[in-house]
Amino acid sequence: MKPENTEQWTPVPPVVTPGARDAAPPSDAIVLFDGKGLDQWVSAKDGSPAKWNVAGGLLTVEKKAGNIETRRRFRNYQLHLEWRVPKGVTGAGQGRGNSGVFLASTGPGDAGYELQILDSYKNATYVNGQAGALYKQHPPLANAMRPPGEWQTYDVVWTAPVFAADGALTSPARVTAFQNGVLIQNDAVLSGETLYIGKPFYRPFKDAPIKLQAHGDPSAPISFRNIWVRELASP
Ligand code: MG
Repeated sequence: MKPENTEQWTPVPPVVTPGARDAAPPSDAIVLFDGKGLDQWVSAKDGSPAKWNVAGGLLTVEKKAGNIETRRRFRNYQLHLEWRVPKGVTGAGQGRGNSGVFLASTGPGDAGYELQILDSYKNATYVNGQAGALYKQHPPLANAMRPPGEWQTYDVVWTAPVFAADGALTSPARVTAFQNGVLIQNDAVLSGETLYIGKPFYRPFKDAPIKLQAHGDPSAPISFRNIWVRELASP
């Protein structure tokens, strides 16, 4: 053997120009929210225009309007989003800054695969429901929360489940995620959709919108900014 025998020269990885600063969308990203409008989002209930509040470059949950989801559907991707629990937030447990990002929305309401968003800064709850949990399946590997009033980042790699033509599961959904640069999910394998009640199970789908949760807890609503996604080829 020569060194050349183990060199791979093709295919050449695509050139992607990074954002001007960390977390700015790179050149091949689909920008889902840049502070200006909600044209990429619709009501998860009926597909009508999303009615959350956009002001000052921020997107703030409008709880009465319900969940919103992307117009586009995605399969495998890298997602970046930033979220902030309001300073002085009140409430406890699941009732303090609750929202969530459904990495695949498989129907109206909370159907899908939720990466939990919550104020988990000095706020105890069931650990598989705290911020960074894949809801009721995988607690985060660490609590990387900044206090309310400060921005949090999520960087997520979503690998969609694959189903055979007859609907049987071929390979499960997988999630790797960082919060504020800290690894919180390491190639976690899901047992199905994230359910509030009962044991998870899979329902076949191919691609799906990304959904943000308008949780009904009584605390002040959270805000989002700088949301982008990069589609990935199937493994
Ligand atoms: Mg939630």
